[in-house]
Amino acid sequence: MAIAKHRPSRIVINETAIYQNIVNEKARLTDGTDLFMVVKANAYGHGLIQVAAIAVRAGATGFCVAVLDEALALREAGFTQPILVLGITESQNAALLAINHISATVCSLAWLKNASLFLDAAHVKLPLAVHLGLDTGMGRIGFQTPTKLSLALAYLKTTKQFKFEGIFTHFSKADSTETGYFEKQLKRWCAFMTVVTNRPKYVHVSNTATSLWHDTCNGNLIRFGVGGYGLNPSGVDLEAPFVLQPAMRLESRTVFVKLLKAGQSVSYGATYTAQEDEWVATVPIGYADGYRRQLQGFHVLVDGHFCEIIGRICMDQLMIRLPRQYSVGTLVTLVGKDHGQSISLQAIADYCGTIHYEIACGFTDRLPRVYQ
Ligand code: PLP
Repeated sequence: MAIAKHRPSRIVINETAIYQNIVNEKARLTDGTDLFMVVKANAYGHGLIQVAAIAVRAGATGFCVAVLDEALALREAGFTQPILVLGITESQNAALLAINHISATVCSLAWLKNASLFLDAAHVKLPLAVHLGLDTGMGRIGFQTPTKLSLALAYLKTTKQFKFEGIFTHFSKADSTETGYFEKQLKRWCAFMTVVTNRPKYVHVSNTATSLWHDTCNGNLIRFGVGGYGLNPSGVDLEAPFVLQPAMRLESRTVFVKLLKAGQSVSYGATYTAQEDEWVATVPIGYADGYRRQLQGFHVLVDGHFCEIIGRICMDQLMIRLPRQYSVGTLVTLVGKDHGQSISLQAIADYCGTIHYEIACGFTDRLPRVYQ
């Protein structure tokens, strides 16, 4: 997708906010605890390489990504820190992982055996670092019983092809006021860990929510994602122990301003008809940028005024009702602050019936990212 550099719509990333969120989180960790910044999905829409650089400056000692290609992009950009791929990488890519010193999540003995064949075939001499993922209740990926885990651990002892570097799980309700399910998962984690006789370098259970609200479980590594971007993983249910500073701003400028006469309609389907004469501006951003079509009726900020998005949001443009005439080129804030008012990703997510994670990583590559 071409980056639309010749258009006033852009995402502005506040580098200091990301830096400070990581520094604040690090200050809460016990000595010797590593922080790996989770930079999957283009760093939750904030920009993979730029966020990785900020994270390292702020004291992150490694990265987590979702897929091998994100890890390779970090290596190509020159990052030498440890990288863990959180998702399952197909075993035929074992050599690529090993050669690039990228750690794999492993959830079955079968994967190890298959990967062993591919490492042999590629004559890879380096050991492939693996983190064993345990399913304690997330129900996504991971060893499901201590017995299955034991078999994998026994296999790892028999080979030099793999380095048992880490073991981890992922909590599904660490961001909730209801802690019963978290406790159940924690018990299962402890049961799993009874069969782990030689602890690997990294033992980790914490995403942002676990670290913020259940930090006694942290282990010696946390996988810090959404908090680094200044977003509260619980939405508004739980208060974070420090102020999370949102890093993402989305802005544009009016490209066309007109007086809409009473009775005239706006956009596809003519779903909006002016009841009286009103000033309307067109903003060059739409659902192809990840600014969702469901946001019809929501608002943006112009000169500190909340302005309704009227009519259907198009692929590349949307229309807003202005409180008075403004000139072409007027700043429009879609996410962020303007004259003391603000629109958060949370508010957008609430309006769309989803979570801020989905909104943030849904902004497409057509939007340029600038860093300040
Ligand atoms: N760990 C795992 C296994 C994940 O899948 C994720 C994100 O989905 C994270 C850590 C980071 O989570 P968060 O962004 O809530 O900190």
